[in-house]
Amino acid sequence: MKNKTILAVGAHPDDMDFGASGTLAKLAKEGWEAYLIICTDGSRGSDDPKMTHQRLVKIRREEQEASGKILGLKKIFFFNHTDTQLVADLILKKEIVRIIRKVKPSIVISMDPTFYYSQDRGFVNHTDHRAAGLAAMDACFPLCRDRLTFQELEKDGLTPHRVEELWMVSFDKVDRLVDISKNIEQKIKALSMHVSQFADFKQVKKRVLERARILGEKKGFKFAENFVRLKLP
Ligand SMILES: [Zn+2]
Repeated sequence: MKNKTILAVGAHPDDMDFGASGTLAKLAKEGWEAYLIICTDGSRGSDDPKMTHQRLVKIRREEQEASGKILGLKKIFFFNHTDTQLVADLILKKEIVRIIRKVKPSIVISMDPTFYYSQDRGFVNHTDHRAAGLAAMDACFPLCRDRLTFQELEKDGLTPHRVEELWMVSFDKVDRLVDISKNIEQKIKALSMHVSQFADFKQVKKRVLERARILGEKKGFKFAENFVRLKLP
């Protein structure tokens, strides 16, 4: 890899903590610079009748910052689009391209935009997850790579950059398993920082450990995270 830099793109605070925090912590420990983008403000994720949008945005940002410290992230970029209303339009794609050209990652991690629903598990993949995944995919290829795309960014010193690999968090397709056995505690601790999101964190922890264990079994790891890996031209 040219640059030991990785950038994760999530829709909400906690998305990447569920999907990729073990991998981010692992690479950070190995000396990589790890960055995170959160596309929305997370302002809809609460059932508390006394909660307001404004207060929740602040709380969730602080929770994500606390989690990022545990994982060893270098910086978190908050785009603050309204939760549940994220669209993979040129505004969002350009925002992601701006960060890619700034931090120059070799690997970008995001969600799988082709994952709409699971009949087996009985759920729809959140619209913001699909939008963030699609915008990140398009930003990686071809938008951040071509000089004549968003050429106006050049005046800020943001020149084209080639992302080498796109890793997508996938629920169903098992492709690239990352051994996170030594990082599972960091993952659980990072997740636990999202206090506003969990009425019963013990259950969440149990579910996350179980999933990481089942994924790990396939390769003889104690715990793993799973991605679909695309090598980009
Ligand atoms: Zn989410």
